[in-house]
Amino acid sequence: SDHQLEYPASPAEMDWSPYFPAYVADSEDLPDASAHAEENGQLLTAPKRLKQDVEIIDIGCGFGGLLVAMGPAVPKSLMLGLEIRTQVTEYVQERIRALRAQEAESGKYQNIGCFRANTMKFLPNFFRKAQLSKIFICFPDPHFKAKKHKARIVSTTLNSEYAFVLRPGGIIYTITDVEDLHNWMVHHLDAHPAFERVTEEEQEADECVSIMKTATEEGKKVERNKGQKFVALFRRLPDPSW
Ligand code: SAM
Repeated sequence: SDHQLEYPASPAEMDWSPYFPAYVADSEDLPDASAHAEENGQLLTAPKRLKQDVEIIDIGCGFGGLLVAMGPAVPKSLMLGLEIRTQVTEYVQERIRALRAQEAESGKYQNIGCFRANTMKFLPNFFRKAQLSKIFICFPDPHFKAKKHKARIVSTTLNSEYAFVLRPGGIIYTITDVEDLHNWMVHHLDAHPAFERVTEEEQEADECVSIMKTATEEGKKVERNKGQKFVALFRRLPDPSW
């Protein structure tokens, strides 16, 4: 339950260094002296900062197939998988450690990380407003029964959180094999004033879409069972100037 979940009080208090050790900033890289802030004469040790922020997330990343495929495709960005199941998270972390060791010379896979989180609850604790450029929601749990719909990862309330952390022009990628859930996600994102649907043409031209269709463990399972895959992308609109 929540008390076992670790989360910072605010994004500024998040220590990213265990997840992206190759990106930890030297103190001279930092624009201000915040790493050595003082309060009442006491030296405060602020969390180590990264040279750049995480900008892509995979919500409910499962066993990490998307992270592993996307990492080398976006070598200049940091991508994070968020997963609620402890053992699955540990598996992904171990998988990333092994890949980094194998690729120690090339430095590949340093830009992907994973930790345990309930994304339905603490997203704004980890990410600042407009920090992210892409959010992936791949094969989320369908929660078929109407009584369980509130557990779905796309909803009016959660869409407002995604809109908060996503920058204008940023994209939410969704894919599922459950047509009813696809319709649900499209309905809720369409209805949200911060999002517009990306055209089919633009969608099919986006290399992340082909990766998302084939790289996740769930996507592979659907492939084996010759199931259908429903894709929808939504762009974060600029905030209106009141
Ligand atoms: N995206 C992966 C894929 O395509 O292979 C995994 C899909 S799996 C059906 C859904 C995943 O979402 C599970 O691993 C589950 O533990 C995770 N999940 C469900 N609710 C979550 C939440 N609130 N926060 C983080 N992860 C969650």
